[in-house]
Amino acid sequence: MSTLIDTLINDNLVPLKPYESARRLFSGGQDWLNANESPFANDYGVDSSSFNRYPSCQPKSVVNGYASYANVTKEQLIVTRGADEGIELLIRTFCTPGKDNILICPPTYGMYAISAETCDIGVKTVPLKSDFNLDVEGICATDNVNLVFICAPNNPTGTQVARADIKTVLEHFSESALVVVDEAYIEFDADNTWATEINNYPNLVVLRTLSKAFALAGLRCGFTLAQAPVIQALLKVIAPYPIPEPVAQIAAQALSSDALERLQQQVSELNQEKAALAAALAAVDGITLVGDTKANFILFRFAKASALMAYLVSQGMLIRDQSKQLNLSNCLRVSIGTKAQNQRLMNLINAFLQEDAA
Ligand SMILES: *Cc1c(COP(=O)(O)O)cnc(C)c1O
Repeated sequence: MSTLIDTLINDNLVPLKPYESARRLFSGGQDWLNANESPFANDYGVDSSSFNRYPSCQPKSVVNGYASYANVTKEQLIVTRGADEGIELLIRTFCTPGKDNILICPPTYGMYAISAETCDIGVKTVPLKSDFNLDVEGICATDNVNLVFICAPNNPTGTQVARADIKTVLEHFSESALVVVDEAYIEFDADNTWATEINNYPNLVVLRTLSKAFALAGLRCGFTLAQAPVIQALLKVIAPYPIPEPVAQIAAQALSSDALERLQQQVSELNQEKAALAAALAAVDGITLVGDTKANFILFRFAKASALMAYLVSQGMLIRDQSKQLNLSNCLRVSIGTKAQNQRLMNLINAFLQEDAA
């Protein structure tokens, strides 16, 4: 049986392994600070009266709600099953398998490369500089790429990307590639959005999600913003009924003015907690903060990172090991949780250090 599967499977899939998402790597535990989710679970209701019908391909309430939130027109946006589907749609729409390439700047979010590999698209890599700024010269010296992925704020370094650098990249590739600015964490650094520049750059694409600041990772709802011709091309590829009706109903509620006010409160609470946790971590002997804290997580380096990680997991405290990423040896990433969770994390780290010293 397995020989049949082995002969049928696409050649480019043979070396691939299923993505090691935070949720797949660890289950159980009590404190989930490993997937940059929000610690707040907000309440929603659904109306089942139309569940017997296929949903709208692009539900109006969600399109209009998000367009108004992001200051774009409804023609400049497509709703997807998370930003992850936006990444895959961009690759399937704008890259020809076996021929075209994307460009990524590691250390960064893993799904750009994984989506490309599953579609038999090449991945060209221009690492971030040692201070995690873009290597603009290196990027502009790379040819034969159709999509340039820039994550801003970047996961897992938490660093923002200089606006002048993105501008240079947009202009350099104006005739040859789309520049995709992944703004999954933009609510934590709202002044730096590129959504407001969509009208100025036909090759600018912005990715957004409800999974992080909006506290709806379980919903699987994201957005791709760009000028209308890009959106029209993506609509050729997206499935006919990509957004389940319950998802559309809840997303629309999450975009109401009351919910947006709650979002702002939760973001400012998380930003305060982040500052407190960053200070507490930085005060620990042997811990150095790495990158910046423009998103809802903190990256730090610790010589005994893997032992600390194992200890935390054994105590039900899940964080994310980033030490396999380029230039991030011994680095761990912790998502900002509730005050109580962050305090528990610090207590456990101090307990580990005492045991370790004993
Ligand atoms: C979490 C994350 C995503 C995925 O968002 P979903 O909407 O949950 O698919 C995309 N990009 C980055 C940088 C992320 O951290």
